[in-house]
Amino acid sequence: MRNKIQPTKIYCARWVIPVTRRTIEDGAVVVAGKFIASVGTRAKLVAQFPEASSEDFGAAAIIPGLVNCHSHLELTAMRGYLEDVEGDFFAWLRKLTIARMTRMTQDDLRVSATWGAFEAARAGVTCVGDASSWGDASMAALRDVRLRGIVYQEAISPDARMADELLSKLRVDVARLRELETELVRVGVSPHSPYAASEKLLEGVTDYALAAKLPLMIHAAESEAEDKLLKHGCGIFAESLARRGIEWRSPRMSPIQYLSTRGVLVARPLLAHCVRVDTADIELIKEACASVAHCPKSNLKLGHGHAPFDRFLDISKGFGSDSVASNNTCDMLEEARFATLLARLNRDEEGGEMYTAQHALTDATLGGARALGYEEQFSALNVGAEADLTIVNLDGAHQVPVHDPAHALIFSSSARDVALTMVAGREVYRDGQVTTIDEERLRARMAEIREKVTGDK
Ligand SMILES: [Zn+2]
Repeated sequence: MRNKIQPTKIYCARWVIPVTRRTIEDGAVVVAGKFIASVGTRAKLVAQFPEASSEDFGAAAIIPGLVNCHSHLELTAMRGYLEDVEGDFFAWLRKLTIARMTRMTQDDLRVSATWGAFEAARAGVTCVGDASSWGDASMAALRDVRLRGIVYQEAISPDARMADELLSKLRVDVARLRELETELVRVGVSPHSPYAASEKLLEGVTDYALAAKLPLMIHAAESEAEDKLLKHGCGIFAESLARRGIEWRSPRMSPIQYLSTRGVLVARPLLAHCVRVDTADIELIKEACASVAHCPKSNLKLGHGHAPFDRFLDISKGFGSDSVASNNTCDMLEEARFATLLARLNRDEEGGEMYTAQHALTDATLGGARALGYEEQFSALNVGAEADLTIVNLDGAHQVPVHDPAHALIFSSSARDVALTMVAGREVYRDGQVTTIDEERLRARMAEIREKVTGDK
């Protein structure tokens, strides 16, 4: 079985990019069990480990595993389903919620999440930060495909009268999900956003996260509608709350200020989006040691604009695809390319540090892992680290000639160029196959779910 942990093996490629130090030409990584035993030149390591088998990937780069800091795997079945309402964020959320809540069974959510994890594995993603309405689906998906990650169980309702009930339910959900935790997959919590969680729920979930030492993720400062509700108490979200008879007093401040004054930033949350943040907001994020999941493609596709990413240089940050309902792919190399191009668009004409391909590669790997709260146990190619790595072919017509592999990865490459994905020493994807799942069975179920989601069945 290919998905078994292998004996000591030397993976060789034209380039090895450890991220934390210089690129190694004609390099190799020795993997022993689930750990990296050595990183260096191919010639040196083949001599040093004469008993080990070796495999040469040729004109390719070995990099640390790519990290997707913000996804909604359970929504994978919504890919391409919401384009007709993209101009109206409220209608978009409503159409998505109706389909998820009324047309998909728990097994559908699980299959949808597993297809998302399958896509991630093919894209060289080894670690995921996933927000989920029913965490069991994402836990199962990550466990089945054998990716690493944190599943943030969501709590959603802007109605303060629901807060106690939702908090009790969250505790029950988390207790159940903790039973499903593995060495690779952990549980977190997510009060959905400042606009979809009441103040009471926000504070309650934060207190719970701090007491139970659970990682916390929240959507923040994503849209104009959210901005208007928080700062002025008007706009489409305010109108919807009024129509539903939900009392929601506008704090008259920015979403980040609001999260700060309500104590949410004390939990050092992962903040998804941060499109609409000013200098004071960025300072608050930095002071709180919170981190940001930057989702440039989703933000652009939904017309929310783009985050001032060039001003996030001192903040812990990684990239997120968001759901493929708003992307439409899980492709962190492409996400990194968009981030790099947009950072340059924003660049201060007075000068300021240029955001480079090397920066983007670091944020797509090590940066993302740190943003999710991991130390360096797997996120850089270091001896003793768990072997999470991705091998990307760099010999395509769209990549040749390669002058610098980091430039080729960020500016010329995409998920489709990934040759191998390894998590904790286990080959999860290679030779076009995800080794851990039955692709055809899953594909047939996705076709069924597509019919159900659209209401045709
Ligand atoms: Zn999201």
